[in-house]
Order: sequence, then structure tokens, then C-alpha cells
Amino acid sequence: MTKLLVRNTSVICLLLSLSLHGIFSEAAKKGKETVILISMDGMGWQYISGQFADTPNLDAVGRNGVRAKYTINVVPTITWPTHHSYVTGLYPESHGIVSNSFWDPVYKENFIYDYDCSNYDPKFYNASEPIWLTLQKQGGRSGVYFWPGSSGYREKPTYYEKPICLVNCSAIDPKDLPKYRKKTRKTWPSYIHCLPNYTEPFTSRLDKVIKWLKSDKPPQFVAVYIDHPDWEGHEYGPQSKEYKAAIEKVDREVVGYLTDRLREERLLESVNLIFVSDHSFNNISPSHRIYLDDFLEQTAYMMTESGAMGHLWPKDGKLEEIFANLTKEPNPHMKVYKKKDIPKSYHWKHNRRIPPIFIEPAVGWSIGQSRGNSNATWVYGSHGWPPEESHSYPIFFARGPAFKKNLEVQPFSILDLYPLMCHLLGIAPQPNNGSLENVVSMLNLDAVTPLMDL
Ligand SMILES: [Zn+2]
Repeated sequence: MTKLLVRNTSVICLLLSLSLHGIFSEAAKKGKETVILISMDGMGWQYISGQFADTPNLDAVGRNGVRAKYTINVVPTITWPTHHSYVTGLYPESHGIVSNSFWDPVYKENFIYDYDCSNYDPKFYNASEPIWLTLQKQGGRSGVYFWPGSSGYREKPTYYEKPICLVNCSAIDPKDLPKYRKKTRKTWPSYIHCLPNYTEPFTSRLDKVIKWLKSDKPPQFVAVYIDHPDWEGHEYGPQSKEYKAAIEKVDREVVGYLTDRLREERLLESVNLIFVSDHSFNNISPSHRIYLDDFLEQTAYMMTESGAMGHLWPKDGKLEEIFANLTKEPNPHMKVYKKKDIPKSYHWKHNRRIPPIFIEPAVGWSIGQSRGNSNATWVYGSHGWPPEESHSYPIFFARGPAFKKNLEVQPFSILDLYPLMCHLLGIAPQPNNGSLENVVSMLNLDAVTPLMDL
């Protein structure tokens, strides 16, 4: 508390002296800035900026703004929970999207991300309110392009892209959904109910975003999700030429193209661009795979996640037996937790959707159910292990009127970006696990002005 008072006092003194000189920007006086958040799925911090691939456009953003070597993501380091943490500032145990796929024991239904009707069912998203919705409730406008989970909300962003639906989810009783999950495709996803049009070129997606920004009623907040280089990272592994090429393509056609287009439209100096990702990659191989068939009868449990984690829901009365079978001969390459023993530091425990048994394989090891079903040749890159162990960290680059120039900041939690974005938008945040204080040093002093209102 004392520290906070001291800081606020010093900020106020500084602000008073600055205001005497009349050097506040117009935007800061109003406490409102435009924020564009762009996530590039699977863009790993240790593979960019000439470390593996060349990313001259991201590097230029860093020189013209702020960068971090990496940021700290949440457990588990996978797409849906992480993206929901960015827009809520909450750990997954609090926002409720605890994994890409999970079981809800109250609804007695499975949630499956992206392509399944359950992903478009608002009841799975009722524990939190994303920033774009908070902004709209406080009188602002937002634009959302494919951001994971955004279609799950009944109230839509002011501007958004609809997914392509092959079935009418609202006409299906959720209890009947298992019947609609027949695997009809050879590649991911194994079936499709609804899916964003991921075949649309990056540049045409960004052209639509520019159109929103150039409209009579532009959004103050835009969230854009780019589904690469994740695909290549999985399919070919993070040391592959395909992953390298995908990173360089995203750098060119997303970061470079967007900054060029904003410059052409004379918007570049008036918007705040924040480029992030959700996770990096580690290699896995068939020789580092653990099969649950070696320990358990398949009929004794349901498995809702595999790969870099194992989420197990024992059938009634089977929990102790399953735990005993998994642990009687300790495997040095996996830890097995009952829910109550999951480390507190994971912030992934206090939610009914977290499984009764959590298997955490060692980094580079993965969990499968049976040898027969597993297609180990497909999986060369993976993610999901806790961030501090796997170093599967995201990237961070930001530029714009609110950000200092050519500044590298220490790694920080991705949750801190939520209060920072609310601050720039001039809106009251929802309760969250982030801290503006951790990241405020990356902002220009005039952008700090609204701190007085906090
Ligand atoms: Zn991802």
C-alpha cells in the first residue's frame, strides 16, 4: 500500500509539472487510445529476430516501440486458454476455458474448441467478460477477427467475421452433439461444425480490419487472430524449414503488411499495435511417448486431452485405482497429480472443469492412449507443458503513441496486458489477475495520465 501511495504521489507530481507545460497529447487528455492486438499462433520467442527465422518487420516494431525477449503465459500453454487470458486478464481456472477441450461435470457435456458447436455455446463462456465486450458496455466499439473463443458470446463485437457453419448449432440439442462428432476428415480438424475461414489470405483479412478502422464509426479496440505458424510448428516441428518459412511469411504478410497499410492510410502513428503469440514449441518424438494402455483399462476413464498433458476423468469409483496404477512404478518422465495436489503456482486447479487426474509428462514427452490409435509421425512439434519448464513462451512487440521507443522490457505475465489495454482504452477493467504496475514503465508519460482515475 505504501509503495502504491508513493508511486501515485510521484506520478501526480510529475503530471502536475507536465500539465503546466501543456504537453499532454490529445489522446491522453481523453484517456482513450486505439488498441490493435494481433496474435500469431505458435510464434515462438526463441525462433524469431534472426535466432532461427528472420523477422525484420517485428524487429522494426520493436525499434519503433517496446519489446520483451518473451512473456510468461499461463498453464496450459495452449491456444484457447491463452487467448482467453489475453482478453480477460484471468488465469484459466478463473475464466473457465481451462483447455482446448474439457468436460464440464455440471453440464455433463464436452467442450471442444474452434470447430465444434460447443465452442459457439455461450454457457461455456459465462464466467468472464472479454475486453471487447466491456468496452462496448462502456460505450465503445470493437472489432474481432477470428479471436479464439470470441464467437462463444451471445453479444457480438461491433465488427467481426462470422465462421463458416456446416451444421446449424443452435438447432441441435447439446446432449445430441456426440452424434454429430463423427470423424469425416483425414486432416485436422477431424470434423467441422463451424470454423473460421482460415483459407482467407492474411492480407485480405487485414484489409477488412483497415476498412473497419477507416469507417465512420471506427472501433477503438481490434483483436486479430492469425492461425500460423502454429500449423507448421505442429506438422513439421520447430526446427523445420516449413516452420521457419511460416514465421517469415507471417512477419511479412501480417506484421509488414499491416504496418504498411496503416502507414498508407495515415493511421500508423495514431494507433497502438500490440503483436503477441500464445506459445512456442518443443520437439516430441515417437520414442518419447507414454501410452496409457500400459497402465489402465480404457473403460475405466475418459480422456479429454492428450499430448503434452493428460486429462483423465475416472469412471465412478475408479479414481484411486487409476491413480495407483499410474503411480505404482514411478515413471521418471511423467508426474501424476490428483486435482487437489496440482501445484498452486499453476493457477489451474480451482475449477470444476479441471480433471480429477492430471498427468504432466516431462518436457519433450507426450501422452497417448493406445499405440493403435496414435499417429506419432504427425506430432513433431508440441506445446502445453507449464511455461517455466518448457520455455514455451510467447512474443511481445508493441508500438504506437502510447508506447516508448526502442525499449526492451523484462519478461512479464501476459495477464498484465489486460489492465494495460483497459487503461489505454480508458475503460474500467473487470476483476483480473494482471497488474498495470508491472508494465506501466513501457508507456509514455502522457499515456499514463489516466492513472489518476484508478
Ligand atoms: Zn496456439
